[in-house]
Amino acid sequence: MPFSYLSHLYCPKCQKPYASTEIRQLCVCGSPLLADYDLQALKKEWTPGSLKGRSPDLWRYHELLPLSDPGNIVTLGEGMTPLLPMKRLGSDMGIERLLMKDEGVIPTGSFKARGAAVGVSKAKELGVKELAMPTNGNAGAAWALYAARAGIRASIVMPVEAPLITRKECAISGANLNLVNGLIGDAGKMVAQAVKERGLFDASTLKEPYRIEGKKTMGLEIAEQLNWRLPDVILYPTGGGVGLIGIYKALKELAALGWVQRDKFPRLVAVQAAGCAPIVKAWEERKSESEFWADSRTAAFGINVPKALGDFLVLEAVYETEGCAIAVDDAELLEEQARIARLEGAFVCPEGAAAFSAARKLRESSWIKSGETVVALNTGSGIKYPDTVRADAPVLNPGDRIPPA
Ligand SMILES: *Cc1c(COP(=O)(O)O)cnc(C)c1O
Ligand SMILES: [Zn+2]
Repeated sequence: MPFSYLSHLYCPKCQKPYASTEIRQLCVCGSPLLADYDLQALKKEWTPGSLKGRSPDLWRYHELLPLSDPGNIVTLGEGMTPLLPMKRLGSDMGIERLLMKDEGVIPTGSFKARGAAVGVSKAKELGVKELAMPTNGNAGAAWALYAARAGIRASIVMPVEAPLITRKECAISGANLNLVNGLIGDAGKMVAQAVKERGLFDASTLKEPYRIEGKKTMGLEIAEQLNWRLPDVILYPTGGGVGLIGIYKALKELAALGWVQRDKFPRLVAVQAAGCAPIVKAWEERKSESEFWADSRTAAFGINVPKALGDFLVLEAVYETEGCAIAVDDAELLEEQARIARLEGAFVCPEGAAAFSAARKLRESSWIKSGETVVALNTGSGIKYPDTVRADAPVLNPGDRIPPA
């Protein structure tokens, strides 16, 4: 059996096919490209039993990943994160079976490690020596660290307001780190310029086809962890939307292999911050693409994306699974973040907290029905965002009495 069943790349907008043996960015029509696999051949060779005894990381699904040679894998042990029952929080919001897919325990502290692991590995396989990317922080941190491990040079541009720790992750990896007095779109334009002038590999969200392949493994893992019985609802904090597109792609590939049933697909929910909700607006207006969201602002920095290149794919995934898109304001998501820590001992990131807050609202409106199995993605560790928490505490002198709790 080949290590990977990758067959080619294709454009989801104009259907043009491309060979996967060369470096590729966007389709000539401007759309992102997606990877396709020879699922008919794989179906004959591969069963859920084939996964037994494989390492507990995302490379256990290598047949559905784009690497042809295992020697090119660049890994820090990412993947197979816990799918935890949230009993106390669930009963607080009236969802008996509430589960958290916890990406807070992955290398670099956010699920961006998945996209970076697969994206950097494939870039290495294709001979990339130097890459560039704009970021709101977490993606840049992950790509800088994985690129360091691969021996690839990375130029990263992020807003000055991006979480400080992500800046430091880039700096310590030796990346060419630059800050911009602006938003991720401004960083994107600067990267595009450098790509044009210096021929760097453009690792911007969806401008290369393999980051999404790494992120899709969240969908594969959720299915495997539930023993191939899919949940009713999956909530995902949506910025560029790569994770949501990836989860939907994973489900379709598993259905083509016959491992899950198409009519049992979960309803996919795109969760955004009220201060940056272009996908929610488009969904409410039944549009197939979003519009640029001016003056975007939210404490959930990873989902501050005013216009996503793959917006049409996010909306397609939401429509086709009869899901929805919903916005949560910062006060709500920060309150939920604290509640999750108090009730469950989990310090989730603000983006993850938004997904839980959305679950609460959707249960209140009965969009989530009683008895349904609900999975919320916590996309990163709360430890990366110390500024979202106030920690006022009395300072005592040695020998003072501790006041009662
Ligand atoms: C990037 C990011 C998101 C959004 O991911 P997309 O796949 O781009 O929508 C959510 N949460 C965190 C913590 C992130 O870093
Ligand atoms: Zn095209």
